[in-house]
Amino acid sequence: MKPIPISGPWITQKEIDYVTDAVKNAWYDNANMYHEKFERAFAAYVGRKHAITLPSCTSALHLALLSLGIGPEDEVIVPDITWIATSAPISYVGATPVFADIDAKSWCLSAQSFANCITSKTRAVIIVDLYGNMPDMEAILKIAKQNQILVIEDAAEAIGSEYKAKKAGRFGEVSTFSFHGSKTITTGEGGMLVTDREEVYQRCLFLRDHGKDFTQNKMFWNTEIAYKYKMSSLQAALGLAQLERIEEIVARKCKIFSWYKKALEGVEGITLNSEESWVKNTYWMVTIILDKRLGIHKENLIRYLNEKKIDARPFFYPLSSLPAYQSQLKASNKVAFSLSPFGVNLPSGMDINQDHVKYIINSVKTALKKL
Ligand SMILES: *Cc1c(COP(=O)(O)O)cnc(C)c1O
Repeated sequence: MKPIPISGPWITQKEIDYVTDAVKNAWYDNANMYHEKFERAFAAYVGRKHAITLPSCTSALHLALLSLGIGPEDEVIVPDITWIATSAPISYVGATPVFADIDAKSWCLSAQSFANCITSKTRAVIIVDLYGNMPDMEAILKIAKQNQILVIEDAAEAIGSEYKAKKAGRFGEVSTFSFHGSKTITTGEGGMLVTDREEVYQRCLFLRDHGKDFTQNKMFWNTEIAYKYKMSSLQAALGLAQLERIEEIVARKCKIFSWYKKALEGVEGITLNSEESWVKNTYWMVTIILDKRLGIHKENLIRYLNEKKIDARPFFYPLSSLPAYQSQLKASNKVAFSLSPFGVNLPSGMDINQDHVKYIINSVKTALKKL
């Protein structure tokens, strides 16, 4: 049997055709044609005025913070459970990340903990649509508004998800997406920043192209030291093809989750990703949390599954517990610290089928007996 990977894309002839067309034709006067198409289609899909293609979601978050004027002396609140790409850009701009706890059900930022983390230095919050789920947006946006805190939405894992019929990517001043090879749609590496705010959009265009002042008709005339954050046209072509197939790709993600749900029926002591009625979860990563009483640590289950050629991954460690953030340990984030040791991501790639899922869950069941 071939190993079952944790994640991976669904590439069809359409993607190959678009990339082939880009490599043949997206030069000279047409150098930007796929960027323009991809950005326009993406903004329309999410429901935002502007979209900017970028080399990664990390660079999108960096530009989001810069364009909102976040810098030294500022604190930015982030959930303690997320990929470090959410929080690292806070340090790039010289600001300080403050780690808030997550909600026990959604595993996303807890509104209550967010409120508790606010100080006179808090300028922004980055909310994360973890594993394709959505946080309690209404409560979080209300607290942010009352305290004049800017909101950035890291929707890297949640293209196609919805909160009360509003798409992921429509919350806050700026939202960001990732098209890394593991994500729901991919450009190999890549990202997108979306916003409704004209001045934020213009500022990001300026900052991502070495501070070239587009209002002056002068070549090689840089008015600030900035960055070079651009996506290639080959990647934009791939992204456009993927986006045009978004409905079937998201439907497939939901199907994969439904197989897991079925296979886990009647199994005691395992919690799957939550499915609140007001959220459309797109299940980027199918994730299980083992009941603490089973006494099985995630790393032991992962080792067992790896032996069975199943690539499983750990639920994120609390960021505040990582060596990268030494001295910022925040054990008072009780939910983050109590769930993380028992959470495991299961294979959620676009290429897996129902037989794989049955095999994976049978292996999990055996592990529960043996470990
Ligand atoms: C993948 C991911 C990112 C980073 O995306 P890149 O495109 O690799 O920079 C950021 N935040 C979250 C929540 C992610 O899952």
